[in-house]
Amino acid sequence: MSYLAKNYNRKKISFVRGKGSYLYTATGAKYLDFVQGIAVNCLGHANPKLIKTINKQSKKLWHVSNAFQIPEGEKLAKKLCQKTFADYVMFQNSGAEATEAAIKAARRYFYSIGKPNKTRILCVKNSFHGRTLATIFASGSKKMTEGFGHVGGFDHFIFGDHKSLKKKITKNTAAIMIEPIMGEGGIKVVPDWCLKELRKLCNKKKILLILDEVQCGISRSGNFFSFEKSKCIPDIVPIAKGIGGGFPIGAVLMNKKVAAGMTPGTHGSTFGGNPLAMAVGNAVIDIVSSKKFLKNIKELSKYFFSNLNLLQKKYPKVIKEIRGKGYLIGIQLYKDQTKFIQKLMNKKLLTIRAAENVVRILPPLNVKKNELDQAIKIIDKVCAKLK
Ligand SMILES: *Cc1c(COP(=O)(O)O)cnc(C)c1O
Repeated sequence: MSYLAKNYNRKKISFVRGKGSYLYTATGAKYLDFVQGIAVNCLGHANPKLIKTINKQSKKLWHVSNAFQIPEGEKLAKKLCQKTFADYVMFQNSGAEATEAAIKAARRYFYSIGKPNKTRILCVKNSFHGRTLATIFASGSKKMTEGFGHVGGFDHFIFGDHKSLKKKITKNTAAIMIEPIMGEGGIKVVPDWCLKELRKLCNKKKILLILDEVQCGISRSGNFFSFEKSKCIPDIVPIAKGIGGGFPIGAVLMNKKVAAGMTPGTHGSTFGGNPLAMAVGNAVIDIVSSKKFLKNIKELSKYFFSNLNLLQKKYPKVIKEIRGKGYLIGIQLYKDQTKFIQKLMNKKLLTIRAAENVVRILPPLNVKKNELDQAIKIIDKVCAKLK
């Protein structure tokens, strides 16, 4: 029996080792891992550079309090700010902590400029911003909030319904928070023109724009941030998942205006930004934000998408749509995806579900072409049997 609480519906399989794009069971069975801890292991399993970094730092210093200066954190914050819109960074340990801190920063900004009633955050219905009490209510999903009482302060609009979005902005709205690519929600990409309009709307209404890049950020989309090419500049961006390459790190990126509200004592985290985490974060960002690395993602992902689209044409009764950007990919089926995912797993390809019958595919960002080919072959075989 298991002494772990039953809050997960786990597959009956475990792994003892990982290397690059592959996972191995105790009996030596080898799986192509296109889950990668849900977009976390951006450099695959057991990346030699990350192993070296963590080994080196683990012998020097693991943890000190944020009561002291942490040079490794200063370094990572500087890189994040120099690469992006941000002027300041607060480090956390997870995505939900980052989105929750983003909400705090938005509210605190309006408080600090003498508008304490502007607290409400407008979000997409059935989005995903994490599992803390506040963030489940931000997500606005019945399934996630049922039985957990009530946390107020969130309003919702339906994805794509621009009329209701405008209507739901009130004098008490502090910010709009969206995922530029909805991950859990079914790999739904918000088009660039939409992000640009959203920025205009926020300017007009004098509210803040929070873009949750926890899943789609850190080069997953082929750009460091998925909103980058849209020319939409957000005020606050929570990140997590990929930035630690498997080590838990979260962070909130903010512009100067917002960060001014976060004065000493307004927020904190015991673990957030510790030297061990920061050393890994520095190593990850150096690799994933290099021009050559990003170019490679774009080229190979284009190749992968074209092959997936061919499969959609070959099996139009099985596959409804191929969605996503870079290596944040969804195969939308006509039917529930549970069996499809199981069949892929039987053929040694690991994928994970998302909403709207989507099979989510999250290769490591340094995946090799032959590994993508291998996945295509397996997906083809599974589709052929279902046809
Ligand atoms: C995963 C995710 C979160 C929550 O991250 P955790 O590390 O699980 O707390 C928040 N927002 C988005 C968009 C995510 O995909």
